[in-house]
Amino acid sequence: MAKINSNYDKLAAGYLFPEIAKRTKAFQEKNQGVEVLRLGIGNTTEPLAPSIIKALKLGVEKLSDVKTYTGYGDEQGDTRLRKAIADFYTGRGVSIEADEVFVSDGAKPDSANISSIFSQDCVVAVQDPAYPVYVDSNVIAGRSGKAKDGTYAGFVYMPCNEKNGFFPEVPKQKVDLIYLCSPNNPTGTAATKEQLKKFVDYARKNKAVIIFDSAYATFISDPKFPRSIYEVEGAKECAIEINSFSKSAGFTGVRLGWSIVPKNLVAEDAAPGKINSLWNRRQITMFNGASNIVQEGGLACLNEQGLAENQKIIDYYMGNARIIKKGLEEKGLKVFGGVNAPYLWVKTPNKMKSWEFFDKMLSEAHVVVTPGSGFGPSGEGYFRVTAFGHRENIIKAVESVKKNLSI
Ligand SMILES: *Cc1c(COP(=O)(O)O)cnc(C)c1O
Repeated sequence: MAKINSNYDKLAAGYLFPEIAKRTKAFQEKNQGVEVLRLGIGNTTEPLAPSIIKALKLGVEKLSDVKTYTGYGDEQGDTRLRKAIADFYTGRGVSIEADEVFVSDGAKPDSANISSIFSQDCVVAVQDPAYPVYVDSNVIAGRSGKAKDGTYAGFVYMPCNEKNGFFPEVPKQKVDLIYLCSPNNPTGTAATKEQLKKFVDYARKNKAVIIFDSAYATFISDPKFPRSIYEVEGAKECAIEINSFSKSAGFTGVRLGWSIVPKNLVAEDAAPGKINSLWNRRQITMFNGASNIVQEGGLACLNEQGLAENQKIIDYYMGNARIIKKGLEEKGLKVFGGVNAPYLWVKTPNKMKSWEFFDKMLSEAHVVVTPGSGFGPSGEGYFRVTAFGHRENIIKAVESVKKNLSI
């Protein structure tokens, strides 16, 4: 008699983005012909850089010739790409070895799958608000109790608010797995070295492991913010870093990412080397490697030309962010983030609830934003605006907010 994994039934109903889609569709059906402007979902919109396209084509070409054809590659990734990623860290003053790099099909799957190499009874701590994957994957894995009022029993929520600059304090109690994301989605805020150091110190003291999501690292323009947690001394003993080509190179649909599992990483019952070999074992068993065509593209993202071309696209999105920030501030709204990350985190006016404001924004300005409460209880009273989008649509949306939103 088969039984389902009933942890799925614990997941709080109505994932954020389907609910946004539902309300947007209902609005469009009632208001035929009205143009809806989308600043909701964080999805890249600009074409890939020329040298990356060339490399992807080369990847295809290689498959056309018996002399260069390849079938299954290493589960851990193409040796050239693993080395290029390691060198990319060296360029930032962080020494990572190629066999600490695991190429993957993206940061979302890695951040969801990584917890499988840790014990069932680990206590999980997350930033609040956070990218929903960290919480949901641990609910599915059975590490939580029941959901109540937007939180799960058994998880430690670390509030990020105006008072603490949207970066949490270390937990007062003992936790085992700590999920951090910087620059943060949704708050658009980057952590300083001092802030990260407190977590590294905490983790080393408590033999906890930090899962550090740095998917937006390349959006940091201010050198005061670390682009990798390994810039903090001792982090290789306590942190796994997950990264992606999705936002830095427009690979959201192409699919490519990586995780760094340092050989020095330890846990309560794991000596150096053990966790690296566990993740290796997990990938060999459950993953057959990233696409060879796509890895050719990834390689091109990391050479000088690729980095420069992608930087231009990042600058374009950050130009959008400046336009949004200026427009919303002129409207009298309080805006956070949007300087070292492609997201703006905005306080709702007049203490409105996130969803209440979502409906108002949609009906008055015809602009779709993301309600902050969808990212955790501390997101209540905020909304997220994405800077991903075509410039003309961004301008149109900002103009409409300025003209049509009544506050
Ligand atoms: C977009 C995003 C990712 C990227 O996931 P991929 O699977 O690589 O596309 C990872 N983490 C966060 C916080 C994100 O917003």
